[in-house]
Amino acid sequence: HRDLHSFPTRRSSDLYFLVDLPDHVDLYEVGLRDGLQSETAAIDTQGKVELAIALMDAGLSRIEATSFVSPKRIPQLADGEELLARLPHRSNVRLSAVVPNAKGLERACRTGIGEVAVLLSASETFSQRNTNVSIAGMLSALEALIPAAREKGLSVRAYLSAVWGCPYEGAVDPDRAVRLAERLIDLGCYEVSLSDTIGVATPAAVRMLVERALDRIPAKRIALHLHDTRGLALTNLAVGLDMGIRTFDASIGGLGGCPYAPGASGNVATEDL
Ligand code: MG
Repeated sequence: HRDLHSFPTRRSSDLYFLVDLPDHVDLYEVGLRDGLQSETAAIDTQGKVELAIALMDAGLSRIEATSFVSPKRIPQLADGEELLARLPHRSNVRLSAVVPNAKGLERACRTGIGEVAVLLSASETFSQRNTNVSIAGMLSALEALIPAAREKGLSVRAYLSAVWGCPYEGAVDPDRAVRLAERLIDLGCYEVSLSDTIGVATPAAVRMLVERALDRIPAKRIALHLHDTRGLALTNLAVGLDMGIRTFDASIGGLGGCPYAPGASGNVATEDL
């Protein structure tokens, strides 16, 4: 009897072969932005407000609400100002919005949001096709944009896209990806989200890149943004967990398809994670 009682309580992590689960991870919910921007159906602002409140009620404390991108480019997110004005302010919830440029930052500032996210690609061709700007051109824009956001009191997060592969170039040089990630941190981002934009990462590739990233950047400044295009998002994520990464992007319902893989699932689903 005594022996049984002195036996340590089994933790749920004992059930896993791959990872010793930490007590806490941070989830960064991208469904309202990364998810809804690829929906063809028009979701009205009221629908987004209800979704955001449901996400908050579910316990998500970091929520990316929208992108202040040109409404011509992504009409689904044209209501960013109105959405933020209608969202409840909760002290335990951090809202964020993507700002692709200075115009977007101006719009974000007028809403009183406390955090913004900036974008950079690790693949030259992806950068040019997606934004019409080279990596170097985008970096020089960010050299102004990130400090400008910081001066306004905003926290800045960064997405580094296509780090595990590009639909045009194929493999992406991991050392270049790590150098760019480090540059984003040096410029004042508190976190860089290494993004498997098209969902081609494998567990071995995640381990290799995260290992190199950890040589230059503290684990607490790295997030993983994984796509489930080939059903590997959770497996890849477990590798990150195992290596000490504690922040993961996820999208409710797995919303957010990959435009280069029609029919394939998009972001890792928050509820699965
Ligand atoms: Mg995504």
